[in-house]
Amino acid sequence: MYFNSETVLYLDGKFVKANESTTDLYSQTLHYGYGAFEGIRSYVTEQGTKVFKAEEHYERLKKSCELVKIPFNYTVQELVEATYELLEKNNLKNAYIRPLVYCGQNMSLSKPTSVSVMIAAWDWGAYLGEKLLRLTVSSYCRPHPKSIHIEAKVCGHYVNSILATNEAKDKGFDEALLLDSDGFLAEGPGANLFFEKDGKLFTPQLGNILPGITRSTVLELAEELGMEVEQGKFTKEDLFQADSAFYCGTAAEVVGIASVDDYTFPKNWNTTLGKKLQNAYSLLVRKPTN
Ligand code: PMP
Repeated sequence: MYFNSETVLYLDGKFVKANESTTDLYSQTLHYGYGAFEGIRSYVTEQGTKVFKAEEHYERLKKSCELVKIPFNYTVQELVEATYELLEKNNLKNAYIRPLVYCGQNMSLSKPTSVSVMIAAWDWGAYLGEKLLRLTVSSYCRPHPKSIHIEAKVCGHYVNSILATNEAKDKGFDEALLLDSDGFLAEGPGANLFFEKDGKLFTPQLGNILPGITRSTVLELAEELGMEVEQGKFTKEDLFQADSAFYCGTAAEVVGIASVDDYTFPKNWNTTLGKKLQNAYSLLVRKPTN
């Protein structure tokens, strides 16, 4: 359950009770997936609760809206402040935060008639669990970047992620790995991919994936730790020769991958570059000055 009788939501500048709030059944977002959202985490640090990369997440929300032409009438700063207030009102510390920009009544495919922003937050543990993941390559590919704005975090795009996740789970795997429409490695349904080969890291380049905020953080940490990273177009065959691999994302954080279909990564996870980055990420998000 994401809320109880005490839970408060932020809605268009006000704080409202979650169990008293309603949604319009004629919303353009509900019918057509025309909305944008974010996934953010907060962590307890020595100087209180900090929202990790709050500005970056709200900047991406703004950009997602701009790309799909949903009016965004808020400042990043007001949404960051609202988020801190929301956490305090709900007495949340290590939380997952979900801002959603959604459109009002409009059953046509025209421009939105009204736009709202809501922010919800709840306690959420490790999204993909703590253990190493067993992945399968999905029969679904990521949407073609020329048919949608793949760099935008838009509600409707997540039908693709839901299809891939459930296909993987129905086949007995933990999670899916999606290729792009040209057959190159892309990303998970809600996380970006890195793999290690001969002491070097590789990750799909931007263009056919969501530009993850955790991906950027991992790239910065890798540089600080003196690790070499190549961003490019890679194939399944590259992955099937790799020593280790991991997914990263706000919800998933940094999580090791045990196998992809019949291929098991040979390196012990505890000795991988991914494990070093997992530790560094876990420390960084809990730093008061992250
Ligand atoms: N790819 C997809 C498709 C996602 O949904 C997410 C989660 N937002 C990510 C990657 C990781 O992005 P971030 O690190 O910004 O959470």
